[in-house]
Amino acid sequence: MNSTILEAEEHVLSTLEKDGSRRWLRPKLSPGHWLTLRRVVAYLLIAVFTLIPFLKIDGKPAILLDIVRRKFTLFGYTFLPTDSLLLAVFAVGSLISIFLLTAFFGRVWCGWACPQTVYMEFVFRPIERLFDGTMGRGGQPKSGRSNAALRWGFRYAIYAVISFYLANTFLAYFVGVETLWQWVQQSPLTHPTPFLVVAFVTVAMMFDFCFFREQLCIIACPYGRFQSVLLDRNSLIVAYNKNRGEPRGKGTKSRSVSLPVLTDSADPSLNADLQSQGDCVDCGLCVTTCPTGIDIRKGLQMECINCTQCIDACNTVMSKVGRPPNLIRYSSQAADTGGRWSLLRPRVVIYPIILTLLASTFFYLLLSKNHFDAVIIRERGNPYTRMENDLIRNVVRLKLTNRQDYPMALTISPQNTSVTLRLAEPDFRLEPGESRIFHLQADVPDDAFQKGRLEVGITIENDRQQQTRVRLPMSGPLGS
Ligand code: SF4
Ligand code: SF4
Repeated sequence: MNSTILEAEEHVLSTLEKDGSRRWLRPKLSPGHWLTLRRVVAYLLIAVFTLIPFLKIDGKPAILLDIVRRKFTLFGYTFLPTDSLLLAVFAVGSLISIFLLTAFFGRVWCGWACPQTVYMEFVFRPIERLFDGTMGRGGQPKSGRSNAALRWGFRYAIYAVISFYLANTFLAYFVGVETLWQWVQQSPLTHPTPFLVVAFVTVAMMFDFCFFREQLCIIACPYGRFQSVLLDRNSLIVAYNKNRGEPRGKGTKSRSVSLPVLTDSADPSLNADLQSQGDCVDCGLCVTTCPTGIDIRKGLQMECINCTQCIDACNTVMSKVGRPPNLIRYSSQAADTGGRWSLLRPRVVIYPIILTLLASTFFYLLLSKNHFDAVIIRERGNPYTRMENDLIRNVVRLKLTNRQDYPMALTISPQNTSVTLRLAEPDFRLEPGESRIFHLQADVPDDAFQKGRLEVGITIENDRQQQTRVRLPMSGPLGS
């Protein structure tokens, strides 16, 4: 039986052929001013990403995301599980900062700083070009090369080494370099879980940088999907100047060079033709250089990661044909449609206001943190027990967290003298960063209760005279 696959009328995705098969992109490198700048930024970012796990601030790692112990250290400050509000404020603030950055500079993150772009374009693709040669016109290899299998093998071996190294760096952010170094020197069987994490991340990196590639930006990254709401008409975008470029036409390369001569040409129709043509010579270099395979001349597209490669490609062409640069350039939708670029608009006012509020809340919460946290947790079951001598006993759990880098010996005292406090644990101390639950008995005469309720203030003090206070809501008999 003959089966016919209907072909799509046009390309649905730049990485799909019309029949649905993968269209492999081999973007041609376009040297230029922007590429040089991006290279500097990319290698700086790679250096920062590699060095951060080694950096210490006040003896603490600059960044350590210790998920197992539920402690996040950021720039010398350790967030504990009791800091969930602080972390939430921090996370929302980071999100709003990204919104603000996008409102001003469009997808500057994607093209300049995203690890996917940085490692793909400045590590993996250069290695590919080293072994397979640079691409010619239309994104095809310039010529066949010998020892293809050997080159393929070397290329993938280098990819594997880099991916393994990246996986170890990634793990260092979660366990610290010292722990990682210990594990590296031991057999994988001694620490199978981290070994499996490194193996998994290595395979995931290989899959991404060798196979999935630009599809991560085009179909998988949520940030790319949000562009339509995060950008506005005044956000910075990479755009083709249609007014100047159209109508485009092939074979117009010589016109600019000979334009003064043609102006005096005896053939007025030829002269008029050339005068009416735009600056785009339809060379297609802006398309073959694009890492996501799109044609920027079709307007703003979600696939555009603002990598500026088409700007560099087109500027080279414009210089060759003697036309002014920046036929493709940084612009905005407002400027492209003849409007005025406006810095001041609602979202760039609202976002900073929200950010200021969040930053104030964050620093207020941060500065009002005690040296140690104390939380009262009521036991389940019987709310109170009647003891001898008309005493009412409540048993609660007292959760204490040492936020400091030194051990603490603690004492506990009630603010109300009629209350007697007793701890079940003899050792009332905390190691640095330790979080521990103590069992606390509170005895009060039954006539101290009003309608079965009594609030008792408790002061907890460490051996450095640093204090924190908690309130213990006690339950007692209703009739007393
Ligand atoms: S259209 Fe230009 S800026 Fe956008 S991804 Fe392609 S090459 Fe980069
Ligand atoms: S690189 Fe410039 S001249 Fe060439 S097709 Fe693109 S826009 Fe036109």
